Amino acid sequence: MTLRFFNTLKRKLQVFKPIKEGFVGLYTCGPTVYNYPHIGNYRAYIFEDILRRYLEYKGFHVNQIMNITDVDDKTIRDSQKEGSSLKQFTERYTQAFFEDLKSLNIQPAAVYPLATDHIKEMIEIIDALLKKKKAYKTDDGCAYYEISKFKKYGQLANMDVSQLQAGASGRVQHDEYDRDHPQDFALWKAWTPEDGDVKWDSPWGAGRPGWHIECSAMSRKYLGDQFDMHTGGVDNIFPHHQNEIAQTEGFTGKTFVKYWLHCEHLLVDGQKMSKSLGNFYTLRDILNKGHHPLAVRYLLLSAHYRQKLNFTMESLGAARAALDRIWECVRKLEAHKEGAENPAVDKLLARAQKNFERSMDNDLESAPALAAMFDMITKVNSWMMTQKIGPLNAQAVLTVMKKFDKVLGVLVEEEKIPEHIQKLVQEREQARTSKQFDVADKLREKLKQAGYVVDDTPQGPVVKKAA
Ligand code: AMP
Ligand code: ZN
Repeated sequence: MTLRFFNTLKRKLQVFKPIKEGFVGLYTCGPTVYNYPHIGNYRAYIFEDILRRYLEYKGFHVNQIMNITDVDDKTIRDSQKEGSSLKQFTERYTQAFFEDLKSLNIQPAAVYPLATDHIKEMIEIIDALLKKKKAYKTDDGCAYYEISKFKKYGQLANMDVSQLQAGASGRVQHDEYDRDHPQDFALWKAWTPEDGDVKWDSPWGAGRPGWHIECSAMSRKYLGDQFDMHTGGVDNIFPHHQNEIAQTEGFTGKTFVKYWLHCEHLLVDGQKMSKSLGNFYTLRDILNKGHHPLAVRYLLLSAHYRQKLNFTMESLGAARAALDRIWECVRKLEAHKEGAENPAVDKLLARAQKNFERSMDNDLESAPALAAMFDMITKVNSWMMTQKIGPLNAQAVLTVMKKFDKVLGVLVEEEKIPEHIQKLVQEREQARTSKQFDVADKLREKLKQAGYVVDDTPQGPVVKKAA
């Protein structure tokens, strides 16, 4: 099966064909660093991580760029409120973002450009748009994009362009506004006293860029005038991505991006998880409750990215249980050293891989892909219980599990079990085989107090850290 994605621009599934064979330029809109991201934001970043990992699984070389929005309405507002410099303020949250990416096992992008390092590139585009009369200046020193000058305005967001051309009026200063009010939007915002010391010089006066021009400038700098994929959450479709298209294509005269992919929202009680509604959990909130970060990862990747996903603590618990099944199976396979080889294992593995890839090829259908892996795990577990699997088979299953995990990223490097714990486990096993069950129970209790649990499996005892 060929790899297909749902392209927001065309509103249909399309076979993926990058501009240059074997290579993918991918721009993923990054965080606005004015607060700790909530796990809704991480749904978007995990979807992008799975996309990138699957493209690599398929053999593409992916150049992923993720910007950091370290200047916009919100970063200025909140740094001023706090009395901190913009840099000091945004660095704190940028750092926190990178820590979260690590604990969620999200692969790092090739570059994380900061908006404040690319003001020159933004000015270059705005200047050209002014010269091409696609933008205009106002008396107060701002610059606006004139949306009626861009024929395809509204196409990405599926808006009625003809109506818009006739009715377009007014301008909007704010970076965020809804699709019922498309207006000329700010490319450059003149300095006001509320901005404090946040300002840059430009040919049309001191000020700062609008949010949308940041991504047009940074994507162009690192990926060129035209590239393959651009992603974000569905709330980015309008106005952010629509405006990026208008700016970049207005400037270059070329098609900006081939494939636009957008993930649906993470909900809480049926509403979008968002800072403004106050119904959000940061990753920190969840980890402080004792949850494993990979359980958050698993939960967010387990539903198809284009479906809304409702967050509950129960679903997080179910994600942890699913992870435990995977980890347990891997542990048992690693400990599996005896038994006759079974030719049926190879067939099982081939089928699992075929089903996994068929699902992922179809617009990253993660739920049936996970089901293919769990079907394999169930069968392998039962064969291990009944000694119908040999050590070479076990290694082959592990190889496939690790291959799947290149995409899923949910396997953990097991912490090494300390020697004194291993010794206790051995002593307990000896006590058990010589039927000294009292001694064995006491040793189990001792292990428990040290924070370890033992599982007695047909392959022998398996020890792990208590959850
Ligand atoms: P922001 O920092 O607000 O620009 O958002 C960063 C990314 O998170 C964007 O791609 C948003 O579309 C995405 N996002 C925000 N809220 C949610 C949510 N509740 N579910 C999924 N993605 C979200
Ligand atoms: Zn962006």
